[in-house]
Amino acid sequence: MTEKVFTPQQVKNLNLYQAAGVFHPFTCGNNHEGDNTLIAKEEGWVCPNCDYTQNWAHGLMLDFTPERLKEMSPFADAILERLDKESAHD
Ligand SMILES: [Zn+2]
Repeated sequence: MTEKVFTPQQVKNLNLYQAAGVFHPFTCGNNHEGDNTLIAKEEGWVCPNCDYTQNWAHGLMLDFTPERLKEMSPFADAILERLDKESAHD
């Protein structure tokens, strides 16, 4: 899996969608211990705990910018602040 399927901006949007908690995130289809919330990369989705991959996303997810989140959730500011703090620990 080396072909790029998402742009860097789409990767950001997808991972915001996954982390925002406004909708149920994409998860790995395999049954295993540990986190199975998929992580978006330019090459596609990967599972943090197995070799599951996926190379498509819904249009809504691809366009899930902070601005979109603000339109959709009254808690957008709090969510963005929390994600900011979390990413500061990386
Ligand atoms: Zn998995």
